Amino acid sequence: MKREVATNDERRTTNVSKIGIMGGTFDPIHYGHLVTAQEAHHKFKLDKVIFMPVGIPPHKHSEEVVEARQRYFMTIMATEDNEAFEVSDMEVSKSSPSYTVETLMALKEIYKQSEFYFITGADAIIEILTWKEPEKAAALTKFVAATRPGFSLKKFKGSISKIKPVPELHELEVPALAISSTDIRRRVLQGRPIRYLLPDKVWRYIHSKSFYRN
Ligand code: NAP
Repeated sequence: MKREVATNDERRTTNVSKIGIMGGTFDPIHYGHLVTAQEAHHKFKLDKVIFMPVGIPPHKHSEEVVEARQRYFMTIMATEDNEAFEVSDMEVSKSSPSYTVETLMALKEIYKQSEFYFITGADAIIEILTWKEPEKAAALTKFVAATRPGFSLKKFKGSISKIKPVPELHELEVPALAISSTDIRRRVLQGRPIRYLLPDKVWRYIHSKSFYRN
């Protein structure tokens, strides 16, 4: 279905030097995520962006989210027409919770020469002190915090500055993040339209599988 996915990670020996890692639950993926990845790709001159759907989220009950493989498929559908985007199944293949530090260490084994930019929502980065081994994670990557318009930066700068050495943190304001997965799930539940908030293939898949109906 997809030209290149993470099952190829082990075989890859590329010298790509700047890699974006787009971490998220993607339940479901939407245009806000795609615009974020494209914007980061451009702003930081990334060679590629690897979407990394969370497998078992460490901070949520797994029954609260659509099954990992399904979120992974939706991510592939949403990104397959962009040559700069890949999707990894590294986290969704694990039977244990997805800890960012472990993912970064595994990626470092594959991309030894590369610089990482871990891209995710600012709301998630605010919680970084509660992540597993935040210092170790921070030593492996720079962070890109995607914000919705009107988001106050003060909160998350405070939390990340407690990590020593203070990691490199970039803010990326993405107006398209007015779209949110929470709103999409609520809309489905209420029988309201989600078309044009996410790629066509993805909303059709959501309807065919009856996701988010209860
Ligand atoms: P979340 O709490 O579901 O999302 C927090 C906010 O960030 C939401 O507003 C979300 O919007 C937005 N967001 C999430 N991913 C985004 C992305 N890639 N680009 C732009 N906005 C994004 O957070 P999550 O999705 O579960 O986790 C985010 C990342 O942090 C994942 O890679 C996860 O593994 C990592 N994390 C690691 C640990 C740990 O290592 N212990 C703990 C927590 C999170 P939408 O709902 O619209 O996506």
